[in-house]
Amino acid sequence: MSETILELRGVSKRFPLRGFASFGKSVHAMDDVGFALARGESLALVGESGSGKTTTASVIAGLHEPTSGTIFLGGVPARPPRSRAESLARKKKVQMIFQDPFGSLNPTHTIRSILDRPFLIHGLARRGPELERKLEACLEQVGLSPAAEYLRRFPHELSGGQRQRVNIARTFAAEPEIVLADEPTSMLDVSIRMGVMNMMLDLKEARGVSYLYITHDLAGARYMCSRLAVMYAGMIMEIGPTEAVISKASHPYVRLLKAASPAPEAGAAREKIGSSGEIPSLIDPPAGCRFHTRCPYAKSECSASVPALRDLGGGHLVRCVLY
Ligand code: SF4
Repeated sequence: MSETILELRGVSKRFPLRGFASFGKSVHAMDDVGFALARGESLALVGESGSGKTTTASVIAGLHEPTSGTIFLGGVPARPPRSRAESLARKKKVQMIFQDPFGSLNPTHTIRSILDRPFLIHGLARRGPELERKLEACLEQVGLSPAAEYLRRFPHELSGGQRQRVNIARTFAAEPEIVLADEPTSMLDVSIRMGVMNMMLDLKEARGVSYLYITHDLAGARYMCSRLAVMYAGMIMEIGPTEAVISKASHPYVRLLKAASPAPEAGAAREKIGSSGEIPSLIDPPAGCRFHTRCPYAKSECSASVPALRDLGGGHLVRCVLY
């Protein structure tokens, strides 16, 4: 069994609303989220906008503190950093790749000054030949060559795909153990997505990092990850090995997602599953199963209490009373 490098136990995050009319109300962005990630493993977090995927990544990265529950990094509970050194140590261990390749690079900095920061801040290279070697290797490993040419440029002189490669190079420059990739290819042209995904897989193999890969795309999740968790309205609805979750999708929401996906399984018959109703408000989420307002199989017990995750075997769990 591989070493568990990240574990979330019962993690919830609520964002209090401001203003007199909203007194006492909060957005329930994550509720009772739990999963573990082994060293070198890749887990996809799949769901629609507002499902809590990005909030999950941001609490793991330490950008927000959980309202309740515990995050373990390398088996040790992660606590709010009490010094700059603690904050840097967490940032070095857990790095994020952001969705927007345009907004996540400072337009006034050259690629050199964007990339030398992680090496210098984390003490991974000294200015001079050592830093030069690392900068060049860092760009070449993401397919930007000749590196010296790219180091001179500004972000606006690069294409979207090249900018995202610089973002990924910056992430790996810190030598992280866990990479939280938040929809890293969703803003790229379709024609260059596959190249970036393959490069990320090569980097994972070469560096032995673990990925939490956030996406709304089942096919992309299947390509990138060996395990898959589907979130809906802040909760995990189904989690397990990718092939099991896709080929034996059990939760009605996951079946709906699969039916709406362009081609999660080549040649597979598409299930006809209907759904009505709106995505629930996270300020006042429905009691019981969060999906009961849209579920075609809902019965009275579904709104009585939140279903527990039930074990289907082989590490495949589903949160639904039908099982
Ligand atoms: Fe549907 Fe009930 Fe299962 Fe929720 S618990 S997905 S409402 S059948």
